[in-house]
Amino acid sequence: MNEQAHKVVIVGGGAGGLELAAKLGRKHGPAHVLLVDKDGGHIWKPSLHEVAAGTLDIHRESLSYFMLAKDCGFTFIYGEVQAIDREARLLSLKPVFSDTQDEVFPARSIAYDTLVMAVGSKSNFFGTPGAAEFAIALDSTNEAERFRLRLLHQLVLASRRKAAQPGYKLNIGIVGGGATGVELAAELLEACADASFYGLNDLDPASDIRITLLEGSPRILSALPEKMSAAAQKLLESRGVVVKTSVRVSSVETDALIDGEGNRYPADLCVWAAGIEAPAWLSRLGLEVNRINQLVVDSNLRSSDPAIYALGDCAQASWLSEDRPLPARAQVAHQQANFLMDTLSDRINGRQPQDRAFHFRDYGSLVSVGHSKGVGNLMGVLSGKSWFVEGLLARLMYMSLHLMHHWAVLGPVRTGTLAIGRLFMKRAAPRVKLH
Ligand SMILES: Cc1cc2nc3c(=O)[nH]c(=O)nc-3n(C[C@H](O)[C@H](O)[C@H](O)COP(=O)(O)OP(=O)(O)OC[C@H]3O[C@@H](n4cnc5c(N)ncnc54)[C@H](O)[C@@H]3O)c2cc1C
Repeated sequence: MNEQAHKVVIVGGGAGGLELAAKLGRKHGPAHVLLVDKDGGHIWKPSLHEVAAGTLDIHRESLSYFMLAKDCGFTFIYGEVQAIDREARLLSLKPVFSDTQDEVFPARSIAYDTLVMAVGSKSNFFGTPGAAEFAIALDSTNEAERFRLRLLHQLVLASRRKAAQPGYKLNIGIVGGGATGVELAAELLEACADASFYGLNDLDPASDIRITLLEGSPRILSALPEKMSAAAQKLLESRGVVVKTSVRVSSVETDALIDGEGNRYPADLCVWAAGIEAPAWLSRLGLEVNRINQLVVDSNLRSSDPAIYALGDCAQASWLSEDRPLPARAQVAHQQANFLMDTLSDRINGRQPQDRAFHFRDYGSLVSVGHSKGVGNLMGVLSGKSWFVEGLLARLMYMSLHLMHHWAVLGPVRTGTLAIGRLFMKRAAPRVKLH
């Protein structure tokens, strides 16, 4: 590697960071572009609810960063960043251990000239007693896998308990009626129905499993248009999900969720999807952060240190026209990754980056409500009007977002090949991962 090369180090290979590394790597090569991630494989985070429900197999879906690095022309460094020495422009990485506790990589330091923080976010428990202990948050592939295994375990237990206690129900509680909670509720309904075909025939998913979705605001999908909330709630309720709005969960116990008025909602399994925060260590870097640890960036996506940029969920950027922060969405991370290409190319080429302003263009939102249905609003780019879409069309559009992410990383030919390959693989395996 050329030691004199200007090094752009991107921390976090998620929805935004990986797209940026792939595009920048193709243009400038591995001497200039380095990606650090704490995982060895990439899964697009908006599909974690499918991992949790078992309808998406991480071993088939995950893309190896080492393979992507070779194909896209960046250097991949496997490890978790734990601190930054801004004066010396050094990142420090924790050592990496194998499952047998052997040290695979020692603690290391990585030098950078320009740093891009793209470490995403995690669930915000808002200090709710018992939440971190008893609820699972779909923050990472590991957590989604942990939920899937607990779900399988609970389904088996439920089929045994039902024989001993007539009227027994398996209760699944979801805290948070945003896109994550809604999509998970719908996915779980279908996964549980499928599981009953594969050996758990004593279980009738329609009557023996109760999914309860609790939302603090007066409506689910409260950040999206009212028509979408109403359509999603109707679809969920028509399939048996219990939706409760204006309910604030004040504590979580091993088998129940308790609201501010003391009402108990039984929950053998609980998922927390009620808000996000950026990793706490970002607030110890001496950079400007907001109350949820997001790095505050200017219109160029630059933090209060001119050598450090930030994008996606870990950054607080504003809509240019208004003084409110952009939402934590994959669409924002994707557009910010595209935007940073020119600025970072300038820096790699030794030029002073031009003063460009990031302008988020909202193309609308799509929420999957099961495998054949979705709801969404699409923004007309020229007219500025929004159109409501639902049903199979919305679901197909939703699926195309995942493909577009693959396209940005793998290019059109490999994305097409992968999509066709996966379609055939699905025919040869049960729809729900059962082991
Ligand atoms: C279940 C679920 C469903 C969602 N559905 C939608 C949807 O339908 N539409 C939508 O727009 N958004 C959706 N979102 C939100 C969307 O996933 C995020 O907004 C988006 O992934 C943010 O992208 P990002 O690049 O900022 O971070 P991420 O995609 O979260 O990537 C962060 C990366 O950083 C790595 N990392 C973290 N810390 C470190 C560290 N210290 N060192 C090294 N690496 C690190 C992680 O391993 C990860 O690869 C959903 C989220 C969830 C959980």
